[in-house]
Amino acid sequence: MSDLEAFRAETRAWLEANCPASMRTAMPSDEMVWGGRNLEFKHEDQRLWFERMRDKGWFCPDWPSEYGGGGLDHQHLAILEAEMRRLRCRPPQINLGIWMLGPVLLEYASEEQKQRFLPPMARGEVRWCQGFSEPNAGSDLASLRTSAVLDGDDYVINGTKIWTSYGNKSDWMYALVRTGPMVPKQAGISLIVLDMQSPGVTVTPIDLISGKSSFCQVFFDNVRVPKSQLIGQVNEGWKLAKALLQHERRAMSKFSEFALPTHFDLDEFLQRCLPQPTSADEVVLHQRAIACMMNEEAYSLTNRRMTDSLRARQDVSGLMAISKLVHSEQEREKFELLLELLGHEALGWEGQGFSPRDLELTGAWLMSYAQTIAGGSSEVQLNVIAKRVLGLPDAK
Ligand SMILES: Cc1cc2nc3c(=O)[nH]c(=O)nc-3n(C[C@H](O)[C@H](O)[C@H](O)COP(=O)(O)OP(=O)(O)OC[C@H]3O[C@@H](n4cnc5c(N)ncnc54)[C@H](O)[C@@H]3O)c2cc1C
Repeated sequence: MSDLEAFRAETRAWLEANCPASMRTAMPSDEMVWGGRNLEFKHEDQRLWFERMRDKGWFCPDWPSEYGGGGLDHQHLAILEAEMRRLRCRPPQINLGIWMLGPVLLEYASEEQKQRFLPPMARGEVRWCQGFSEPNAGSDLASLRTSAVLDGDDYVINGTKIWTSYGNKSDWMYALVRTGPMVPKQAGISLIVLDMQSPGVTVTPIDLISGKSSFCQVFFDNVRVPKSQLIGQVNEGWKLAKALLQHERRAMSKFSEFALPTHFDLDEFLQRCLPQPTSADEVVLHQRAIACMMNEEAYSLTNRRMTDSLRARQDVSGLMAISKLVHSEQEREKFELLLELLGHEALGWEGQGFSPRDLELTGAWLMSYAQTIAGGSSEVQLNVIAKRVLGLPDAK
C-alpha cells in the first residue's frame, strides 16, 4: 500500500471512530461552534469533535506543526478534505483567523509574531473579526481613513470600522489602518492586530430589517496598540490586504463544500420537491435544476483544480476572483430555485408550521444575496477580472 493509500485508510478509520454521528449532518445556524475566549458548546458531541480535531492539529491541517498545524502536504490535505466530505463531517469550528489571517501571518509576519499568534489560533482559542470596511470605504477599500499614529512604542488608533461581522463577540480584530500620507492612497496603509478589549474600543451592533444581524460598527478613540502588533512592514499593508482578501474569497468559494447552515444539498431537495414535469412550467423548472447541478459540479471540479494550483504555488489570483463571483451568483440562483420549488413552505420565518430546515432555507436564501456583496461585490469582482485576468484598461 502506498503512503497516500495508507493515509487515506487511516484517516477514514479515524474519522469514522471520532466524528460523532450528530456531527455528520447539515448544521443548523444555532449549532455553529466559534472558537475563542468564550467557547460555547450546545451539546457534548460538539465538544468532542472540537477537541479531537484540535488535538490532531486538524483545525489547520496544512500549517506547519511548529505553529500548531497538522503539517500535511497538499496531497495528504486533499485526502483529508475528501474523506471529510464523504462522511459529511461538519467543520469542527468556524474561525476567520484560520481561514484568512493565519495564511497571511505565515507568509508575512515576523517569527516572533508567528509564535505568538498562530498556535492559539490553531487551537481555536481566539475569535477574530475583520476590520476592513469603513463608511465610504467598502468597494473602494483603499480610501480608508482610520488612522494609526506612532507614539513611543504604540500606535494610537482613531476612526471607525463598519459591517464588522460578529465584532461584538470577537476577541481580536485584524484591521487596516492608515499610517502614511494619502497619495497614492494604497501606499499609506498597514495591517495591525488588536485586542477588542483595549481601552477606547466601542462596538455597536447594527440592526437589520430581518431582525437578525451579525453586523457591528466599531469605534476607536485613542486606542493604544503596541507597535509589535503591526504585521509586515509599515505602509505595506495593501499587499497583505490583497493576499488576505484572496484567502477570504477562497474560503467563501469553498462554503458549498462545508456543512454550513447556508449549505443546502441540491440533490436532497430536488428529490423531495421537484415534480415530474407535466407542464411547460415544470419542464423549465427541470431545466433550471439540471443547469444548477451541472454548474455545481463544474464549480466543485474547478475549485479542486484551483486548490492544486495554489498548493503548487501558481498564481491563482484571477481564478479566485472568478471563483468567488461564479460561486456566489450560482448559489443565489440555486436558492431562488429551491425557494420556488418549496412554494409557500419557504415563506416561514419562525414559529410553528414549518420544518426547521425549511426555516433555515429562507434565511439561507437571503444570505445568498449578502454573499454577492461580502468579500467584494459581484460588480467589483467583474472589474477585477476585467483588469487582472483579461488585461482590459481601467474605466475612465
Ligand atoms: C454578509 C456580509 C459580511 C461582511 N462582513 C464584513 C466584515 O466582517 N468586515 C468588514 O470589514 N466588512 C464586511 N462586510 C462589508 C463588505 O466587505 C462590503 O459591504 C463590500 O465590500 C461592499 O462595500 P460597501 O457596502 O461599502 O458598498 P459600496 O462600495 O458603497 O457599493 C455599493 C454598490 O456600488 C457598486 N460599486 C461600487 N464601486 C463600483 C465600481 N467601481 N464599479 C461597479 N460597481 C461598483 C457595488 O458593487 C455595490 O453594488 C460584509 C458584508 C456583508 C454583506
